[in-house]
Amino acid sequence: MSKSIVRARWLLEGFDGDTPMIYEQSALLVVDGAVAKIGDADDLVAEHPDAEPVGSGQDLVIPGLINAHHHVGLTPFQLGSADHPLELWFASRLGLRAVAPYLDTLYSAFEMIASGVTTVQHLHSRAPGGLNGLYKTSKEILSAYDEIGMRVSFSMALRDQNRLVYLDDDTFLNRLPERLRPHLAAYFEAYKVPFTDQLALYDDLTSMTDGKLKQSAQLAPSNLHWLSDDALQATADLARKSGAHLHAHILETPYQKQYAAKRTGGSALTAFDEMGLLSPKMTIGHGVWMSEADIELCADRGCHVCHNCSSNMRLKSGKAPVNALLARGVPVAIGIDEAGINDDRDMLSEMRLVMRAHREPGLASAAPSASSVLKMATTHGASTTPFSTSIGHLGIGAQADLVILDWKTITWPHQDPAQGPIEVLLHRVKTNAVKQVMIAGDVVYADGLFTHVDKDAVLSEIAERLAEPLTEDEAAMKALAHDMLPHVRAFYDEHYTHDPAQF
Ligand SMILES: [Zn+2]
Repeated sequence: MSKSIVRARWLLEGFDGDTPMIYEQSALLVVDGAVAKIGDADDLVAEHPDAEPVGSGQDLVIPGLINAHHHVGLTPFQLGSADHPLELWFASRLGLRAVAPYLDTLYSAFEMIASGVTTVQHLHSRAPGGLNGLYKTSKEILSAYDEIGMRVSFSMALRDQNRLVYLDDDTFLNRLPERLRPHLAAYFEAYKVPFTDQLALYDDLTSMTDGKLKQSAQLAPSNLHWLSDDALQATADLARKSGAHLHAHILETPYQKQYAAKRTGGSALTAFDEMGLLSPKMTIGHGVWMSEADIELCADRGCHVCHNCSSNMRLKSGKAPVNALLARGVPVAIGIDEAGINDDRDMLSEMRLVMRAHREPGLASAAPSASSVLKMATTHGASTTPFSTSIGHLGIGAQADLVILDWKTITWPHQDPAQGPIEVLLHRVKTNAVKQVMIAGDVVYADGLFTHVDKDAVLSEIAERLAEPLTEDEAAMKALAHDMLPHVRAFYDEHYTHDPAQF
């Protein structure tokens, strides 16, 4: 039996409704990776003299943060793509350098854990090599999380159409100059996996994660435009049969809203609902262009929304209706998506951005409070994953996923005590205050070092591999990305409106 006592100056257990349950000079007894007791620190130490002490008792202890929407390790910007509006970005990022999935996963896990993230919703987009390629990539990614000790809910995106623009692959190929067609066709071919195989991968993922305390699998119906009606229906059937949690990108951009109207005559959310895909197990990634009726439908079906604030800003997607969603009682989680505002995976900075990006003008206007943003990154993030109520709080029985934040670093040389610890946390904390990160009772990060993986060695290996000249494939894909951009733009110029008044 493993036993430790985590001492805190301030201990946030979680939220009772919207009220933070925060205790002064308290401690947690952690037994075999779960919270066994909360109480006075000295009493717990006297009762359990054999427990390993963790934390100085001078710090703020909070539940581990949940990055509820994540895709890759090194960022698209690092690997060669500038920020573009999403629809052009799909083309621009065809030319990204390739990084081995294991190293790539560790790269962003370092950044996430160092900013207090203990659970990630990893939505992997694609892998070459057919079903075997998907299987192999998934295995490598899961082994990286296993190695570093991070909790993950993993999925591989389901898609069967419209892989570059919101148009059938063959029809788009036919719009291209003849010399470009074979290159794009070869790319489509390399990533083609029959939809039944994509669904079958879910069984493989559940077997891979079965019996692993820190791993779970989900379904990710990628987005309306990427899925035919048959594929949506088959996904809904599998979700019903398996009871899986789902995460879908929906209404991320104004073009996706227009696409849904063209295809269905209505909203993407209604289309998902008609397929039976909306339930408390569904998380809507982005949801920037949800109408009032969409928000109502989302609330009625008990769906979650994952707000990806940095991503929406960087890719010119728009501003999500976060205040309206929260006011309607929709649980909103936070995701850093492909990269945050500083081109990294810093959840502390992402929470601050969310708190400040939705302050509407005026004395009587809405704005998320510090504690509601922290609840988004803990309680709500947790319930978008199959780990659900076993994480996102530190109540008795919960997994001991927690972050110890150095109160002195946050407040030095002075902080007026009128601001409570959660206000201070959300306004001032930076990654230099993250002292220790514990996941399922295991301290995976302490004083700037990862306990299970040599970060410097991993970064050196990534640097070495990427210092090599482009492979033939990479050079060809870079050229393809460059050649595709004007044709992708021309497609949207021709078939979609760019006029915000008509969004
Ligand atoms: Zn995404």
